[in-house]
Amino acid sequence: MDAKRILVVGGGFIGMYAARRLERLTRDGHRLTLVNAENFMQYQPFLPEVASGTIDPRAVVVPLRQVLRTTRLLIGEVELVDHEARVASVRLPDGSVRREPYDILVLGAGSRSRTLPIPGLAERGIGFKTVTEAIYLRNRLLSNLDTAAETADEDLRRSLLTFVFVGGGYAGVEALAELEDLARGVLRLYPILGPADLRWVLVEAADRILPELGEDLAGYARERLEARGIEVRLETRLESALDGWIALSDGERFRAETLVWTAGVKPSPLARRSGLPTDAVGRVLVDDQLRVVGVPDAWAGGDVAAVPDRVTGAITPPSAQYALRQARCLADNLAAALEGRSGRPFTWRNLGGLCALGRYRGVAKVLGIKLRGFPAWFLHRTYHLAQMPTAGRKVRIMLDWTVALFFRRDVSQLGSLQHPREPFERALDG
Ligand SMILES: Cc1cc2nc3c(=O)[nH]c(=O)nc-3n(C[C@H](O)[C@H](O)[C@H](O)COP(=O)(O)OP(=O)(O)OC[C@H]3O[C@@H](n4cnc5c(N)ncnc54)[C@H](O)[C@@H]3O)c2cc1C
Repeated sequence: MDAKRILVVGGGFIGMYAARRLERLTRDGHRLTLVNAENFMQYQPFLPEVASGTIDPRAVVVPLRQVLRTTRLLIGEVELVDHEARVASVRLPDGSVRREPYDILVLGAGSRSRTLPIPGLAERGIGFKTVTEAIYLRNRLLSNLDTAAETADEDLRRSLLTFVFVGGGYAGVEALAELEDLARGVLRLYPILGPADLRWVLVEAADRILPELGEDLAGYARERLEARGIEVRLETRLESALDGWIALSDGERFRAETLVWTAGVKPSPLARRSGLPTDAVGRVLVDDQLRVVGVPDAWAGGDVAAVPDRVTGAITPPSAQYALRQARCLADNLAAALEGRSGRPFTWRNLGGLCALGRYRGVAKVLGIKLRGFPAWFLHRTYHLAQMPTAGRKVRIMLDWTVALFFRRDVSQLGSLQHPREPFERALDG
């Protein structure tokens, strides 16, 4: 068998898990390279807890070099794949571009926030897809509380303390619930501020939040949020966010310093840019064995691909639960193809959905059983802890949770991390 160069693009659920499983091929002389924009994989389901400070950011990122043993790791951004010529152009951190030749492509470049051309959104909004955004939001909340506690300007204070989330899926609901919990937990340190000073608004275009859960559980989640004073605006759209003024489709206009956009995801633009066949929304078309349709030596899965769901007949949703299993199936099928064996179709029946609503609260539907409150929250934690790659990360997270049980929330805000040279520049000024 000829030795092949396998290029894995993306080091998320698809890339990292597929590469790990493909490593056994390197014993037969095949060479494996993984290109990822960062040197770690992010476990996104824990990002809301990073935002609230319950989990340390380091505990939810997995260092790829430690997990991958015989894979060459190349840090950089793939700008283009020329699959005809079997070469990828990779922008390295120093700005140079490397042409990376390969024989077989595995595309796992994931997705990005799906934005809309809403006036002011680009200038004012922030997504919730990365650990950087989670850290930023935590710092932003704490910094807004600090400023609001001191300002005499009523309008400014209201604006600083108004938080708008657009998109009522898992990411939006969990992020909002965790941050609201954090704010509630630290308010006693700001004697001048009370719970009524803070305003939390969840804007959702559909007639319900959490479409993945049944109507009754989604209704329960909404009730729980509203009982905490969170405004859930259904069948409402964000119309503009110019100069910090939020305009909603129901006619309301108010100022808010923080606008978080969690209204869905779109596949990485690399799919379309690379000339691979895509569907109307830009996902790479793959067959049920995760081979790119009509293209030899190309495989894809996860958020960047339109994977046929043999259970529902639709396309599998952008979810870590699916991506993880697709990674294993993809790797097995690729290995089988190299060894001249036939592969197996991707089939997996989703066992349910879990959504945390802040500390000790949640909703879940697992194997048809509906859970609310503490049991759902506990199941959410236990499930994701079990899924978290590496024993070291699991232990760190458990330690963080244990500390959070016994100690009060930490309010140090490290926003200055975003401007590390500032103190030195000030020193240079004298
Ligand atoms: C806040 C949040 C909470 C979530 N909670 C859940 C949950 O509870 N349960 C669940 O099942 N799912 C959840 N998800 C969804 C889940 O995380 C994604 O579906 C999953 O990560 C998709 O895996 P992937 O491998 O396709 O993409 P990703 O995991 O996003 O990995 C893509 C990787 O490719 C890299 N990359 C992208 N473009 C390039 C390029 N051009 N060059 C090099 N590298 C590139 C990225 O840096 C990234 O490392 C959540 C997502 C978010 C944002």
